[in-house]
Amino acid sequence: MRQYIKAPTAEVMESINSLISAVDAHIATDYALAASLFDKANCPITWKWLNDAWANSRRNIINSSSAYEGKVIPKTERDKPPSASIKKEVLARDGYRCRYCGLPVVLADIRKIAHQLYPAQVPWGRKNTEQHSGFQVTWLQFEHVIPRSQGGHSSLDNLVVSCALCNFAKGQYLLEQLDLEHPLLREPVNTQFDGLERLRPFSPKFSPKKVEVTSKKGLHSNIATGGIKHKSTTIHSKPEVFFFAGAHISSGYVNVPPIAGKSRWFKIGPLITAEMAERHGIQGCLVYCPREMVARRGLDVEKFLDVLRT
Ligand SMILES: [Zn+2]
Repeated sequence: MRQYIKAPTAEVMESINSLISAVDAHIATDYALAASLFDKANCPITWKWLNDAWANSRRNIINSSSAYEGKVIPKTERDKPPSASIKKEVLARDGYRCRYCGLPVVLADIRKIAHQLYPAQVPWGRKNTEQHSGFQVTWLQFEHVIPRSQGGHSSLDNLVVSCALCNFAKGQYLLEQLDLEHPLLREPVNTQFDGLERLRPFSPKFSPKKVEVTSKKGLHSNIATGGIKHKSTTIHSKPEVFFFAGAHISSGYVNVPPIAGKSRWFKIGPLITAEMAERHGIQGCLVYCPREMVARRGLDVEKFLDVLRT
């Protein structure tokens, strides 16, 4: 009998280590390093390791005895998905480790924060091919040992914390079909790993609002406005230049690291342009925009004016 379907490889472990280091770098306000480590954690070999296994869980069956066939029960008769309180209990018992293979695992909402902070380096779309492999392999699941489709309950004795592979590659099959040992027969791995929960306070609470204008009056000459139809006038002042230390540009946004505990975004568009720059040895971003747009984000306009350009 085996403990897991597929053994984690050196590349998988390296992706996870890069993910952990990226979060450490973000907390240490080294955003450039964090971005490069998140990017490194998104490894094609890691992606293939997982996606080959979960694409068709039937292929993972070892024991195809007919004794296990015909047990799938109708959806209406299945137990409900686990409640928030039972998930909390399972997580408290198992910690942030897969009970099958032992991989460190991370809740989806932590991945969402990383994606919001670093959208270019932590891609996450609906398709598997659009997802960051480091966050795919560490995607925390509440796994039904006996699947609900086979009559398993959403109870503490039938749920375990698992990684994405051990959950999805197991699919709707029974331990016996996959020749897997029951994970609750082994003690949980004693771990200090926090599931990257230390990233949670960095959740961007601000989401950029669209600014609509009818007039191009007052726009900076450097700003491309050609072809854009404006609907209503809300901005009157000329663009000025602001410097944000530690900010970076990705996927059409300027991401400003937390100031007074709050992250900000600027969407690059007709009213906002940006470029990377260094001031007093600090890497950051120059943002060209009307001052109202800085004030709207709850920032002291004068404090961020770039002295070299204005
Ligand atoms: Zn696992």
